[in-house]
Amino acid sequence: MKKRVVIIGGGAAGVFSAIQLRERLDCDVTIYERTSELLKKVKISGGGRCNVTHHYLSQAQFSKNYPRGQKILKQNFNKFSAADMWLWLETRGVKLKTEADGRVFPLSNDSQTIIDCFLRELDRFNIKVVFGSELQKIAKRDQEFILTINQKECIADYAIIATGGAQKERELSMFTSIGIQTISPVPSLFTFKIKEPSLTELMGLSLKNVMIKIIGKDYKEIGDVLITHWGLSGPAILKLSAWAAFELHKAAYNFQIAVQWMGEMTEEQIRQELDMIIKNNGLAKVVNRKIEKFPKRFWDYVLYKAEIELEKKWIDLSKKNVNKLVQVLFHSVYDIQGKTTFKEEFVTAGGINTQDIDSNTMMSKKLSNLYFIGEVTNIDGITGGFNFQNTWTSATVCAMDIAEKAKKCF
Ligand SMILES: Cc1cc2nc3c(=O)[nH]c(=O)nc-3n(C[C@H](O)[C@H](O)[C@H](O)COP(=O)(O)OP(=O)(O)OC[C@H]3O[C@@H](n4cnc5c(N)ncnc54)[C@H](O)[C@@H]3O)c2cc1C
Repeated sequence: MKKRVVIIGGGAAGVFSAIQLRERLDCDVTIYERTSELLKKVKISGGGRCNVTHHYLSQAQFSKNYPRGQKILKQNFNKFSAADMWLWLETRGVKLKTEADGRVFPLSNDSQTIIDCFLRELDRFNIKVVFGSELQKIAKRDQEFILTINQKECIADYAIIATGGAQKERELSMFTSIGIQTISPVPSLFTFKIKEPSLTELMGLSLKNVMIKIIGKDYKEIGDVLITHWGLSGPAILKLSAWAAFELHKAAYNFQIAVQWMGEMTEEQIRQELDMIIKNNGLAKVVNRKIEKFPKRFWDYVLYKAEIELEKKWIDLSKKNVNKLVQVLFHSVYDIQGKTTFKEEFVTAGGINTQDIDSNTMMSKKLSNLYFIGEVTNIDGITGGFNFQNTWTSATVCAMDIAEKAKKCF
């Protein structure tokens, strides 16, 4: 008799695990999806373009982009990496491209290309999909799983849970009730709210190479920052939110950041740069001779924060003026009062505790033949295609294990 595999969740992880499994094993696979649609997040991902993975780096380097789950992924990229996903898609007719920042997209710039590829594969392998089906309970009897889906019992030899990030802790209760450890879910990848009109009126300005530190915590990021009408966004902020997701949640999103607008420059180097301007352009008005990397509007803001009159000449700046300017450039402190999501994009930190998962196979350590893959686990990455790569890798690793085990049974 063919092995019966039930997959719960028709997102990236669930669909990809079904395909990867059928490529390796002739078995009876059914995906149960609670909504009426497959791959909903793939469709809207990357602004509708689907940032499907990230440019291949070494396993060690790639895994550094995961605030949670680094160790598991580092070891599993051996089995299925970003380079493997690239090859997998291209051999199925999906042309890809890498953008300057390393993000990989379909050449079509349309997430539907990825979805169509997956749907063709589901079709090719005759994988059943049952919509409007919600898993409510899971139990094991002897070697079989009894899954309660829409109040009806369904029997399986293997169960793959790919239900995505839980919004509320109670969504995980069906797993805790069978002894699986979970971690309360909290959002990751969000932007910072700052109530300072003089800053937020600069909305739309993007600054390169800015260093942000969370005061009192050991987190800092360097990168591009975008000023928005609610505060700060951009890659450096999103990365920081991911690394500090649990601590910031604990602080109810009220905390302080210190911004070094000159990036990695030391205070000494900033002073030297200002001294050079005074020496070479001393007769120029401060408003007219700005620090090159800043847009004009931002320079006006810096001078306002440093309480320097715009018409003053560089040579006429007092020691106090220069000190204040250095302080603004090197250590501007902002109160963060809340968070917002970036273009509706977010992932969930928390979920199934990875301590309860065998890192080689993604199988539960408590119940054999029960697997957890994708965002339902406490594994998440920063922006840039890393979250999808977690789904491709975990789905493949679990499919490999089921195929290997099932073959041994014959
Ligand atoms: C707007 C947005 C844009 C994004 N863009 C990118 C991007 O470009 N690149 C990137 O790498 N990451 C991106 N992400 C993150 C990425 O989409 C997720 O990490 C990824 O989709 C997780 O896949 P998953 O299959 O684990 O979960 P999901 O995609 O969330 O799929 C889970 C599925 O399970 C179903 N389900 C849940 N509970 C049950 C149940 N009890 N019974 C039956 N079915 C159930 C859900 O309906 C859903 O279809 C984005 C996220 C968002 C929100």
